[in-house]
Amino acid sequence: MTGITEGYIASEQLHSAPNYHPLPVVVTSAEGSWVTDIEGKRYLDFLSAYSALNFGHRHPMLVAAARKQLDRLTLTSRAVHAEIFGRFCRELADVCGHEMVLAMNTGAEGVETAIKAARKWGYDVKGVEPGKATIVVCDHNFHGRTTTIISFSSDEGSRSGFAPFTPGFVSIPFGDADALERVLAQDPNVVGFLVEPVQGEAGVIVPPDGYLRAVRDVCTRHDVLMIADEIQTGFGRTGATFACDREGVKPDLLILGKALGGGIMPLSAIVGSREVVGVMTAGTHGSTFGGNPLACAVGIAVLELVRTGEFQERSRVLGEHLHARLRAEAPEVVAEVRGVGLWAGIVLKPGAGPARGYCERLLGRGVIVKDTHATTIRLAPPLSISKEDLDFAIDQVIAVLAEPAG
Ligand code: PLP
Repeated sequence: MTGITEGYIASEQLHSAPNYHPLPVVVTSAEGSWVTDIEGKRYLDFLSAYSALNFGHRHPMLVAAARKQLDRLTLTSRAVHAEIFGRFCRELADVCGHEMVLAMNTGAEGVETAIKAARKWGYDVKGVEPGKATIVVCDHNFHGRTTTIISFSSDEGSRSGFAPFTPGFVSIPFGDADALERVLAQDPNVVGFLVEPVQGEAGVIVPPDGYLRAVRDVCTRHDVLMIADEIQTGFGRTGATFACDREGVKPDLLILGKALGGGIMPLSAIVGSREVVGVMTAGTHGSTFGGNPLACAVGIAVLELVRTGEFQERSRVLGEHLHARLRAEAPEVVAEVRGVGLWAGIVLKPGAGPARGYCERLLGRGVIVKDTHATTIRLAPPLSISKEDLDFAIDQVIAVLAEPAG
């Protein structure tokens, strides 16, 4: 880091809330899998804005769609009908094999929307006693940062200082369908089970084979909505369009975000049947920017990329290569390599030093990766990455892991 970077960071810190701990690099431009910093140095982006950049930075088709829409119509609010909105909803519902979409902006808003829809479905359709609706979640979940969402987080750092919390949630171990069965058998007021098909922020934790299928069966038997948060797993990250597809499972509600906006616009949505999403009638929910024409134009172009199947295939094939190399060449400090598709969590052995230190050393070698918790290095390159760039990054990761901890 030179004086230019240090100077920028110091001035940013004067006026930005210190709610993040970014790596010490100041990015000014990007293309594909690469970013350039204010000193003109290039880095391979091996994080992809936590999977929001699955198609790489500024994919030409997505930029062209945004430009075209900028010249036409950017915002109406939902006070009137915007021509492009209906098409976006139809195409997204179609890609998901469902009927109805409720569009929002950020991932956390998508999760909030799913919680509200599940509760309302519980009262209006399932017949749960007013005020009693319960949603089951998983230990070590990450679904965003709003007050309600952190109410059912198991991460003290996310919760501390923000009480009082929203009631109505019960947490069970992730990957344990029997635990879900036990709760649902006892509590008739459960309306939904909210689950990440792979827990991302917890450290890229893949559940046992058959878990999602078992969850689907348990939810169906107890008339409980299976709500899959595919905000991070969706749109190819795991080698399939959605992680639930890997087990042939169709959730009642899909929550989508991140890559849906193509790395250009914040765009999230819940997608489900008419019976479930249709409970969100006029006046129950909304957002001024939710489903705005600019985001819809990018979303439609994203869906076009998704329908080619190219990114899912790349994620599957290159992901196998990534995992094979990491497992075969993992240096002594590595306890475990987890993940699926172009997504990996490298878990460090006790005594290996904090994951953050390895990320900083990787930055020095021109690769951007980020730690999650103290012990795990998370890799999530754009799905558009070339094999050559992928191998370059893997070489650097292995070299840094093999160096003595600094
Ligand atoms: N759900 C999951 C699974 C996520 O990984 C995230 C963000 O990392 C969110 C929800 C929250 O999304 P956002 O940061 O857009 O609010």
